[in-house]
Amino acid sequence: MKNFGFSRRSGIGGKISVSFEFFPPKSEEMEARLWDTVTRLEPLQPEFVSVTYGAGGSTRERTARTVRRILTETSLLPAAHLTCVDATCGEVDKVISEFTDMGVTRFVALRGDPVEGVGACYQPHPGGYANGAELVGALKKAGNFDISVSAYPEKHPESPDFATDIDMLKRKVDNGATRAITQFFFDNDLYERYVERVRRAGIYIPIVPGVLPVHNFAQVANFSARAGAHVPAWLAERFDGLQNDPQTHALVAAAVAAEQVLDLIERGVDDFHFYTMNRADLSVAICHMIGIRAQVGAGAAIAVPSSAAA
Ligand code: FAD
Repeated sequence: MKNFGFSRRSGIGGKISVSFEFFPPKSEEMEARLWDTVTRLEPLQPEFVSVTYGAGGSTRERTARTVRRILTETSLLPAAHLTCVDATCGEVDKVISEFTDMGVTRFVALRGDPVEGVGACYQPHPGGYANGAELVGALKKAGNFDISVSAYPEKHPESPDFATDIDMLKRKVDNGATRAITQFFFDNDLYERYVERVRRAGIYIPIVPGVLPVHNFAQVANFSARAGAHVPAWLAERFDGLQNDPQTHALVAAAVAAEQVLDLIERGVDDFHFYTMNRADLSVAICHMIGIRAQVGAGAAIAVPSSAAA
């Protein structure tokens, strides 16, 4: 039986920081759902929230609009994702200036996936940035930004081996990356082994685990392999038979994610990035489990008992 001694200490939430990832909504209905999610997560005072950038810049306008709304209507610090796909260096530099004019100081710098889709052979734009490392370099030249990059505990599917993969991470760090956020994973041993490899390579930036609460197991199983993440048999078994039982699916998902996060805390992790899929419930539940509570005065008004306020 696992010893949860550390994660059960009182006040643990004050030692943990979190960030949340959103994607830009495509429709009014999705927009309403995103803002409901933002409103529920804002009082948890994440270190930052990030907004993804669609393949080939397909969400450029929507990403910008979402980031602007976060800046103007919330107390949250937004990080804009940016990719190199299908764009010249000049075009990417223009997007960087648009974000900085808005007041953005944080970026998540990525190469991105081929326009033809994950799995196709990536061809850098002949006049563009070739990979995440070059994009980090361009951002660093443009300003003193907080720059996050990707990391792959199971290695990126295109990398022939871990050494090549970690070499790319090293190049991103050498060019100015301040933090790496991992691809999601379900086996914490893989993450721990990866961090050991990264440290052995002389990389000392935080490697923040990306946690994917499983809102829809069938979908996760479908895109995991392409994303370079393995779905263990035990995880499939836990969700087996729940396709038409959303309530139990949600309870199991919360339990699975809490188990993963609590185990990571026991291993010394104190910073988490949640892939929210624009849904609040599971992220709120997991944050609550690890002692992160809504802060009075942050975001939505929270009723305070008069005795506590006195
Ligand atoms: P890089 O860091 O440049 O490379 C990743 C690895 O792939 C390297 O280790 C390198 O060894 C290998 N590699 C790179 N290029 C080649 C090549 N030509 N040949 C052989 N090997 C190569 N995608 C989006 O479109 N929008 C997003 O907003 C987005 N956000 C993400 C956020 C996080 C935290 C993560 C982990 C991923 C995100 N992705 C996003 C997915 C990402 O774009 C893909 O995984 C993409 O395939 C690689 O981008 P990268 O920045 O990791 O690439």
